[in-house]
Amino acid sequence: MSKEPILEIKDLEVHYGPIRALKAINITVYEGQVVALLGANGAGKTTTLRTLSGVIKPSNGTILFKGERLDKLAPESITSSGISQSPEGRQIFGDLTVEENLKIGAYIIKSKKILKENFEKVYRYFPVLRERKNQVASTLSGGEQQMLAIGRALMNNPKVLLLDEPSLGLAPLLVKEILEIVNTIAKDGVTVVIVEQNAAQTLKIADYAYVLEVGSISKEGEAHELMNDSSLAEAYLGTV
Ligand code: ATP
Repeated sequence: MSKEPILEIKDLEVHYGPIRALKAINITVYEGQVVALLGANGAGKTTTLRTLSGVIKPSNGTILFKGERLDKLAPESITSSGISQSPEGRQIFGDLTVEENLKIGAYIIKSKKILKENFEKVYRYFPVLRERKNQVASTLSGGEQQMLAIGRALMNNPKVLLLDEPSLGLAPLLVKEILEIVNTIAKDGVTVVIVEQNAAQTLKIADYAYVLEVGSISKEGEAHELMNDSSLAEAYLGTV
C-alpha cells in the first residue's frame, strides 16, 4: 500500500445556514485503503461525503486529492478527476433498464472500448446485473438496486469510490455479500470511503475508521483496534 495520501481533508467546516454540521474535521485516506466513517444519525457522515464529491461547498478548510485542491471544483470536474459517489438512498432511475442506468454512470467515458470494458468489470463484480441488464431498475430487489448504484459509480473508472450507507435496509446476508464485493473492489486498487451505521460489519473490511459525533471526530484508528474498543462497542457495535 502506498504511503502517499490520496485524500487529505484538513480543518473542514460545513454550515447549513446557522447549523455547523462539520466542525474542523481532519481525515487522511491512503491509496488502496477502505476508510469507514461511522457514527449516529446526524453526525455529519453524509455531509462529509457530499463535500468530497463537491455537491456541498465547505465554509472553511481544504480537501486535497493527490495533493491538488479539490474543494473549489464543480462536482463534474471532481468526477472527471477520479472520484465517484454512490449516494445515500441509491437514487437510481427506476424507469430505465439496468444497462441504461450503468451507461448514465459512464458519462465521462468517451471511448467505446473503455465503456465496454467497464460494463464487463461491473458485471464481473455483480453477475446478477448482467442477468438483469434489460430489466427496468424499479423491479430489482433492494440488494440488486444497491449493487446497481455501486456499479453505476464504478462506470467512470474512479480512483476513489464514495459509498453512502450501502447496507441501508438490506438483510444481514446481503449486507455481508455487498461489503465483501466492496472489499474486492478495494483489493483491485480502488480506494473506498464508506459511510455506514453498520459499524461491526464495516470494520471487518475497513483498514481505518473515523467516528463522527455531532460534527466532530470523536475517535479514529485502525479498524481492528476499533473493533475491540469497548466504548465504541457500547455505542455502535451492538456487542455490549
Ligand atoms: P444520517 O445517517 O442520518 O444521514 P449523517 O451522519 O450522515 O446522518 P448528515 O446528514 O451529514 O449526518 O447531517 C449532519 C447535520 O447537518 C445534521 O444535524 C443534519 O440535521 C444537518 N443537515 C444535513 N443536511 C442538511 C440540510 N440540507 N439543511 C440543513 N441541515 C442539514
